[in-house]
Amino acid sequence: MMLGLLLARAGVPVTVLEKHKDFFRDFRGDTIHPATLELMHQLGLLEGLLRLPHQQADHLTAVIGGQQLPLADFTHLPTHCRFIALMPQWDLLNFLASEAARYPAFHLLMEHEVTALTRHGNRVTGVEIQTPTGPATLAAALTIGCDGRHATTTASAHLHTIETGAPIDVLWFRLSRHPNDPENALGFLNFGQMLILINRGDYFQCGYVIRKDTFVSRIQHAGLPAFHASLLSLAPFLADRIDQLAAWDQIKLLTVQVNHLERWSAPGLLCIGDAAHAMSPVGGIGINLAIQDAVAAVNILAEPLLANLHRGAIITELTLEKVQQRRQLPTRITQTFQVIAHHILMTFLGNPAPMRPNKILRTLSSIPLFRRTTARFIGLGIRPEHIRH
Ligand SMILES: Cc1cc2nc3c(=O)[nH]c(=O)nc-3n(C[C@H](O)[C@H](O)[C@H](O)COP(=O)(O)OP(=O)(O)OC[C@H]3O[C@@H](n4cnc5c(N)ncnc54)[C@H](O)[C@@H]3O)c2cc1C
Repeated sequence: MMLGLLLARAGVPVTVLEKHKDFFRDFRGDTIHPATLELMHQLGLLEGLLRLPHQQADHLTAVIGGQQLPLADFTHLPTHCRFIALMPQWDLLNFLASEAARYPAFHLLMEHEVTALTRHGNRVTGVEIQTPTGPATLAAALTIGCDGRHATTTASAHLHTIETGAPIDVLWFRLSRHPNDPENALGFLNFGQMLILINRGDYFQCGYVIRKDTFVSRIQHAGLPAFHASLLSLAPFLADRIDQLAAWDQIKLLTVQVNHLERWSAPGLLCIGDAAHAMSPVGGIGINLAIQDAVAAVNILAEPLLANLHRGAIITELTLEKVQQRRQLPTRITQTFQVIAHHILMTFLGNPAPMRPNKILRTLSSIPLFRRTTARFIGLGIRPEHIRH
């Protein structure tokens, strides 16, 4: 959506295809990071965005064994917004869609599912789509695969995926939230478990981290009362509402993947975001990275796309490769950080012993420079992009 907005703003005709009929689904993550908020400021959209209901987290605190550990402090970032905005992703997407619709070059087709790529020789020339009125094709000078971790575009192009793997999955569910519930405590860790609570105003979007492939064999097998007890052992203040989780179908299993494409592009095709590099939820940074990819792609491709539009100039593979060259390093460093975090998680996940934050973490969390550095890494990421067009 961000890519569509930026391309249309640069005068490039763009059609965004979304397979669902609306955005009202539990997307994976509600975090809008300072780097993304800075881009919104650059676009003159920040005030409008922040008028939508949201919460602001200017610190991130983990609660390990009942002890609060401040791990990131956003209040010193060199940005207009020194906080993470927590907003349901459908609000962000609807907002971007309505802003993009102001540009005549922007077209959004909902309920249009890409089923395959079309080709002429080895060049991708567009997509085959399933629409509410039947199958169709759409031709494009350039197809950009932004279709997430199970991308049809990358599979159809036979782009080679290098799997790093992830040893965890996440259970995703909601519990109501009361005004005096703890703030900013995004991660509760104890007794070999981890619970993340995302403040969505009157309810928490909850993420409970489990070892991969143990949902049925261990969690469901132990029964719902045991699951309730696990959650309460981490966050006892949820006791008065835990019964809201009355059936397993209220709990979704989200599988976590970490991978990257060897090559993000092929003639006529570029992949970005999770389609090019599936991110783990660790650090809540995947959305920001996908948006940064979109900005880099428009910075690099807007002029060649306009030249294609006006003079029929071909967009070369060399040009497409520049996007990967620009964004590969930030992605790989971020994924490395996520993989290290997975290893640390695996040292305690499933071990029922009470946890205590170790001395190194306690010392680090007491150092302001450490908290500001983590905030910079999480909030701005590596090589934050600026909109050029
Ligand atoms: C459990 C979990 C929790 C997470 N939490 C966070 C978080 O809090 N913060 C964060 O920053 N990151 C989080 N992430 C990572 C984040 O979800 C991704 O990195 C980010 O969403 C990638 O954005 P994207 O636009 O590339 O892909 P997506 O957000 O996956 O968007 C892809 C879009 O393409 C559409 N689509 C898919 N296939 C087709 C098709 N064939 N035709 C048409 N449309 C199609 C989809 O419906 C979707 O709208 C989490 C990941 C997981 C697994």
